[in-house]
Amino acid sequence: MSNFETDAIRINASKSNQREHSAPLYLTSSFTFDSAEEARAMFAEEIQGNIYSRYANPNSSELIEKVCAAEGTESGIATASGMAAMFGSMASLLQQGDHVLASRSLFGSTHQLLTRVFPKWGISSTYGDISDIANWEKLIQSNTKMLFIETPSNPGLEIIDLEWVGNFAAAHNLILVVDNCFATPYLQQPAKWGAHIVTHSATKYIDGQGRVLGGLILGKKDLIDEVQFFTRHTGPSISPFNAWILAKSMETLAVRMDRHCENALNVAQYFQDCKDIDFVKYPFLKSHPQFNLAKKQMKHGGGIITLTLKGGLARAQRFIDELKMISVTANLGDSRSIITHPASTTHSKLSEEERAKVGISDGLIRLSVGLEHKEDIIKDVERALEKSR
Ligand SMILES: *Cc1c(COP(=O)(O)O)cnc(C)c1O
Repeated sequence: MSNFETDAIRINASKSNQREHSAPLYLTSSFTFDSAEEARAMFAEEIQGNIYSRYANPNSSELIEKVCAAEGTESGIATASGMAAMFGSMASLLQQGDHVLASRSLFGSTHQLLTRVFPKWGISSTYGDISDIANWEKLIQSNTKMLFIETPSNPGLEIIDLEWVGNFAAAHNLILVVDNCFATPYLQQPAKWGAHIVTHSATKYIDGQGRVLGGLILGKKDLIDEVQFFTRHTGPSISPFNAWILAKSMETLAVRMDRHCENALNVAQYFQDCKDIDFVKYPFLKSHPQFNLAKKQMKHGGGIITLTLKGGLARAQRFIDELKMISVTANLGDSRSIITHPASTTHSKLSEEERAKVGISDGLIRLSVGLEHKEDIIKDVERALEKSR
């Protein structure tokens, strides 16, 4: 174990005998055995080794080792997408009759899993408001098995006290799952505060260049073994190519996140002083209601800003249409700055009432601040604000 940056670069699990410096890509569905006896022993798990790429592949193993070092977790599984990771972690550890307590502001598809998919299988859930954790005690039922949270939340940027939630889960004997996609392991490591499972959409900051989908389920070995039984036999495996891209991307995560965060803080400060704004939210702005908590558990404030413009929905749409450089797309965590209107896109499947409960007004805008020069990002925003007045 070295420092974060060094492990992310130097862990090299997929070395062949060709003395290559950069990790090779293992495009193979299966692996050969020296003998019938070796094949038997490997299937019996008496000896370790690669069998079949649905189980493991050197490229996915390298990605997992790097992200485990970054998160401080023992073991992990790489999946084809972030949602395969959210689904796999819940479907494998829950059964009919179980109940999940979740923070209310969740990624849109995670919300669909909890409210539309799992109820069909007799797994129920309740939402707790992050602003009201004092009342979470009352939301626990005799059959509550899991606590599922996101912090900072998407797109509200609400922050949950990880130390509090770790203690709360331990006191009630619940499996604590944290979707750490927004913060990345560079900014916060939920396992340190007691999270049993940490999940990721690697599609976002871990890739960081908007190229591939990927997901991760990380945690203590005994729990991950249980999840692995499920994923091995249901098949959400990541492709070797995507794992190779993501393992390479881990090498630059720290420097990219430093710049994302520096740029985002600067853009947030620009918005704060701007007369067109109703409010702007960013974890490391003093005006964020949980600024002190953000400082306690996050290294920097992250790359996402949310804001509401004066003039509501119509103004928000005019503003988005006037941007010249910033992309209008639903992704985030890309090297390119991205603007999203959650109410009409990522969170459009929620009812208006559900959106109101998680603080998504019609005028809310989410900005994923990229790696372009901060002056050019601000220039684009400034021009579009002026033109949309
Ligand atoms: C994008 C995202 C997901 C889903 O990940 P995919 O890779 O798109 O499947 C889950 N949680 C959060 C917080 C996300 O931003």
